[in-house]
This record gives sequence, structure tokens and C-alpha cells, in this order.
Amino acid sequence: MQWTVRLEARTSAGEGETTELLTFSRPAIISTLAEIGLMLAETKTFLARLQASMLCGQVAEYAAHHRVCPECGVLQPLKDRRTRQLQTLFGTVEVEVPRFKVCRCRLVAPLAEATVSPVCALLTARCTPELEQVQAELGARTSFRDAARILETLLPASPVTHEGVRNRTHAVALRLEADDRHAAATVVVEDKAAADASRPVVMLDGTYVRAVPGHKTRNFEAVCGKVGREGHSTRRFALVRSVAEQPHVLLRAALLDQGWREGDAVTAISDGDPALPALVRSATGGPVEHILDWFHLSMRVHHVEQVMRGLCAIEPPLAPLDHAQIDVERLRHLLWNGGHEKACEALGRIVSWAKDAALLNDPTVEAKARRLVARCTELRSYIENNESALIDYGQRYRTGKPISTSRAEGTVNHLVSARMNKRRQMRWPPRGAHHVLQVRAAVLDGRFGQHAIQLAA
Ligand SMILES: [Zn+2]
Repeated sequence: MQWTVRLEARTSAGEGETTELLTFSRPAIISTLAEIGLMLAETKTFLARLQASMLCGQVAEYAAHHRVCPECGVLQPLKDRRTRQLQTLFGTVEVEVPRFKVCRCRLVAPLAEATVSPVCALLTARCTPELEQVQAELGARTSFRDAARILETLLPASPVTHEGVRNRTHAVALRLEADDRHAAATVVVEDKAAADASRPVVMLDGTYVRAVPGHKTRNFEAVCGKVGREGHSTRRFALVRSVAEQPHVLLRAALLDQGWREGDAVTAISDGDPALPALVRSATGGPVEHILDWFHLSMRVHHVEQVMRGLCAIEPPLAPLDHAQIDVERLRHLLWNGGHEKACEALGRIVSWAKDAALLNDPTVEAKARRLVARCTELRSYIENNESALIDYGQRYRTGKPISTSRAEGTVNHLVSARMNKRRQMRWPPRGAHHVLQVRAAVLDGRFGQHAIQLAA
């Protein structure tokens, strides 16, 4: 059996042209399942020919339209024809680029000669915005090498190396950042009627990415987070502070996108790293309520509880253990309800008991008791260092407001770990990581498609 695909093109002027694209054939009687339907290789050839035919037709019509002098309506003389290659998702197409002599009626000096190339002015890049977008999206989702392979497997896309995917991803990231800078600098006129009372919440967390050999440190820090507000879908952001140009601007753009306006208060939830709320302060230039993340606090309480459980399991039971155990059991409750001063007092009592136990008992007990001292001291200084950021978590939780960055942790996993995973032995230059994070955040937010339309427009 045989199939022939013919393409019927019709110009705006109504002229028709039929081109034979290709012919598929199969044995009269097929013998295996593999012979049924279209094959990938045929489809790729088909798409490439369709693209070439369509694109060349469009460009030719465009050139013909622009050949007419806009002033007097006369056809401008053809000077020469050159070709240019345009990379697309469906193959590289050689495009004819004619140059025209500018019509005499528009020449300033009568004997001068000037040329115009409207097609050249149309082809502002070597590739279509769609190809760039797909390469950047794949490059942000998976390794550059895999992205190149996936494209090559499925589409007749212009041949691409992993470096090509990387460069396109970086180019798109630079544009996303430029857009953010532009948005952050835009003064939004407040519509009082539309202003909503809920306060935006910024959840921040840091993580480490392995650096390429030769970088001054083994790891570098990436900051990730989410900006959330009632009635808005959350927006992710991520950056490598050491290389981001004005990192606070990226956060500011995310806040503005969530309806935040200059002067509005913002709540920031993060762990004890003072640089994180400081980033929010420089983004808003206004009031920031910093809340210590319950998740990080609770993890430290958990460490104390764990060591305590180990001590309780010792036989025969240690004499004054009961009092310490009661204090340990109260810790979580006290911190949850804003009783951090009482929690510090309790920690003091546990430490003094554990020190006694370490002195009075055999080495196994001593080691465990010392571990309890260490965990309690750690928790106590964590509480004291972050005192201003401790709140009544229970009360806030009951009003339905967020108290934890566990969602930011999820963002870290999505944004960083899944792409820059240590197990994959990936090492990153900080700038490269920063760029991939910009695109990944936009892709995961679903902001990426919208952006491409703007690019193409
Ligand atoms: Zn003219």
C-alpha cells in the first residue's frame, strides 16, 4: 500500500500551489505489528519537509509584500539573493533573503544607492523562539545532555549539542531575570478597592550545591523559596546569592506578582540564618515580620527527645530520670505555645541533671548523657539567637496561617535537588546553577509558557 502527502498552499492573493511532500509505502500484506501506522523516522522527515515548505512560502510572501515601495507603490529592484539558515523545532531551514534597491522616490541624494532586506530584519535570531523555549524548558528539567537527546529522538529539530541547550537555557534565564528587574522597577498604582488584607508570606530556605572543580569553595549556597498569598497561586523563586545581580530584586518581582505593594507588611518564615530575612527586608524596603520556621525548631526538639529516649531505655533505670523526662516532654508543648522562656529554663534543668548523670555513671550512660547536654545546649542557643522570631505557633496555626517552611523545603527538592542532585555527581558553576534555577522556577510555576508568547510577540 502507498500513501502520498501533498501540501496545498494558497497565498493571500488567492494563488494556489501544490507540493508533493512524501510518499510512504508498506507491503501489501503486513506481517508484524511494527509495520502498522506511521514510523518516527517518516514522521520526522514529513515534519521537516512540511516546515521547510511552509516557512519558505511565508518568507517569500513576506518579501514580496515588502518589495513594494510604501511611498509610490512601485516594485523596488532586486539587488541580489542570499540565504540564511533558521533553526526550528522541525529542522534547519535554508531561507532565501532577497535584498532590494531602495526606491528612487525615497532616496535623499538622487545618485546614492541604498538597499533594504526586509527578511533580514524579520530574522532577528538564528532560531525560532519556540525552539529556544523548548530547549530551555528541557534543559531546566533534565540534564543538558538528556535534553539534547530527547529532542533528537522525537523531533527533526535542528541538531543540538548539550552546549547548545545550555547556552539557550542561559539566554532564556537572562531574559527572565531582565523581566523581573523590569517588573521590580515598575511603580504599580494601588487600586485601593482591589487591595486585599491578607499579608504575603515568604518562605525561604537555603541548600548547598556542589561546585565545579576549581571553584573557590566545594559547595555554594542556593536560596529557594515561595511567595504565597491568599487567593493567589504561590510563586517560586530561587537564586545563587554569590552571582545573582541584585538578588533582592528577584524576590521583589515575585512579591509584586503576588499583589504586594510598596509599604505593605510581609511575613518571612525561615530557619535561623539571619541572611534570609535580611534578603526579604532589602526586597521590600519596609516592615518584615520574621517567624522562625517551626519545622527547623521542631527538628531540634526531636533530637533532644531521641537522646532522652535512649537514656530511658537503660536498665536499671537511672534515679532522677523522671524529672528530666517530664521536662523533655514539655519542651515541644512550651515552644508550640510561645513559652520559649520556660523552655529555656527547662533546658537548663535537663542539662544540669544530665551533667550529674554523666559524672555518677558508667561510660555508656556518660556518653548518652553528654549527648543530651550537647543537644540541649544547641537547642537553647538556637532559641536564644532567634528569640525575636519566636511566636505562639499554636495560635497562628489555629487561624490557618502558615508556620513552617516545609513547603519551602518541598520547593528546594523540586527546584534544586531534583536537578542538581548530589547523587548524580553533578557539579555546577554558580552562574550556571543560578540560570537553570531561574528557568526551573518559571517552568514549575507555569509562568514559562506565558513568557514565550511575549518573546514571540
Ligand atoms: Zn517609491
